[in-house]
Amino acid sequence: MTKIITRFAPSPTGNLHVGSARTALLNFIVSQQTLSSKFYLRIEDTDKARSKPEFTQNILDGLKWLGIFWEKEVQYQSQRISRHQEIAGILLEKKLAYKCICSEEKLNEKRELIKKNKNISKKICTDCKNDNKIQNLLKNFVVRIKLPDEGVLRIEDNIQGSVVVNNKELDDFIILRKDGTPTYMLSVVVDDNDLGVNLIIRGDDHLNNVFRQYYIYKYLNWKIPLYAHIPLIHGEDGSK
Ligand code: GLU
Repeated sequence: MTKIITRFAPSPTGNLHVGSARTALLNFIVSQQTLSSKFYLRIEDTDKARSKPEFTQNILDGLKWLGIFWEKEVQYQSQRISRHQEIAGILLEKKLAYKCICSEEKLNEKRELIKKNKNISKKICTDCKNDNKIQNLLKNFVVRIKLPDEGVLRIEDNIQGSVVVNNKELDDFIILRKDGTPTYMLSVVVDDNDLGVNLIIRGDDHLNNVFRQYYIYKYLNWKIPLYAHIPLIHGEDGSK
């Protein structure tokens, strides 16, 4: 691949730390290998309660101090919410996502059941998708993606190798919250796709997310990027 498009996508919920600085550096270095390659910076500031402008500033200052520079303007995820909602609408239309009105109580009961029966499917809502009345609601629902329950999904990761998961282990995760705001899982895929990102280097705490994000790419016929999940940096006591 000669044109590599990478990105660093920190959430401004804390200062730049050594682990995220390393992730940024690796993405940046790879993007410097060929003239046509690009490196983008996206601030994932959709968690309004925990994101702070001073953390964004600290991240920008830290990256500049490291000599890292990026394409064009910094992208702020919070400014792209309508695009994320548009994509959720397309998934709903294609019946690859559905509206869910399960109460917290009902979901907790199901969570308990799943915890006790390790072999059963992790799909937490099983009824809403088949109820036309729910699917015609105009408000007061979350939107869940519809994932298969049968079969396995194999992902090739440049660092972790071949990783397999049973589809029944994957929940129909939420892509739009009740207030209509998108979740990280949807936003990250839409933003990476729209930037043309074709190589994602990030901490292996995100490895599990690949299996979920994969289906969003697939359902929309978008090109799935290459992945490289790097081990986190741990202290001598094993903590992150
Ligand atoms: N915003 C995420 C984080 O800071 C990273 C998302 C990603 O690299 O896909 O953990």
